[in-house]
Amino acid sequence: MSFSSDIKDELARLQNERTCCRQAELAGLLRTGLMLRGAQGQPALLFITEHASVSRLLFTHIKAQTNSRPEIAGEKNPRLKKHVVYRLNLNKPSPDGNIQQFDHLGIHVRQEEKRLEYSPYPITSRCCIRSYLRGGFLAGGSIINPDKSYHMEIAFMDKGIAQEYSHWMEHFQLKPRQLTRKGYEIVYMKEGEDIVDFLNIIGAHHALMEMENVRILKEMRNHVNRIVNCETANLEKTVNASVKQVEAIRLLDELMGLENLPPGLKEIARLRLDNPEASLTELGKMLTPVLGKSGVNHRLRKLEKLASDKEQYKKL
Ligand SMILES: [Zn+2]
Repeated sequence: MSFSSDIKDELARLQNERTCCRQAELAGLLRTGLMLRGAQGQPALLFITEHASVSRLLFTHIKAQTNSRPEIAGEKNPRLKKHVVYRLNLNKPSPDGNIQQFDHLGIHVRQEEKRLEYSPYPITSRCCIRSYLRGGFLAGGSIINPDKSYHMEIAFMDKGIAQEYSHWMEHFQLKPRQLTRKGYEIVYMKEGEDIVDFLNIIGAHHALMEMENVRILKEMRNHVNRIVNCETANLEKTVNASVKQVEAIRLLDELMGLENLPPGLKEIARLRLDNPEASLTELGKMLTPVLGKSGVNHRLRKLEKLASDKEQYKKL
């Protein structure tokens, strides 16, 4: 099962205690996912979802809130052979052929023009904003498995509804972005932290924890990589410096003979030749008495300076 399906199953199981929130959730579901289509010559109000849990939730809401029973048909998705899509027909069978109305949710069926028109759905309490956002996500939302990357989006058929949804998200300090793709208005976020916040707001606490676990693992992996890279960089620096020092010492040996160096320099020159991979601290520990890193550095620099001076002198 995909990450999105798990989240939707979790969300659909939540029990809304309050009547106001149950209506807001239904408004979010229908304003995001409802379509007006012709079916066998008759206009039909359809809601299509790939998720059984979402179709059950919608059925329950419609039955409880409008006293009608949508017709549910499961059919194979022609694009994705294995998947089943659930098609809910919300037409109330009425003798006058009129279609069921959802005006109280700000959805107005314009039968002659074959389209849906929306008016604002007023929400006054935070509990209902959460429920509305949850409904919208259940209808049109998806989240990429956080193992791969962070991306959450909700697809809307109507630009105004998308803007309204963004506006409700902003109530919770979220900053969603919006784009148009293949005739859909997409509201999306790409930051792991923002997605976690959103999951918290709509009540997907189990999914939230799963996502946090993935984020922690990812962060640890990045941290380890950073340390390894840093150590590699340090090692490279040590090696590069050592190569230069060894070159200088060989040159000095050639030009004046190491035995003619002052005792302190002679000692460190021999140690460096024998231990080209050792760090300055390690070289210092090989001396008696032990010499600190900066002391070793000082002597090696002296050797390099001496070598370059001797070379200059030779060229004159
Ligand atoms: Zn409420």
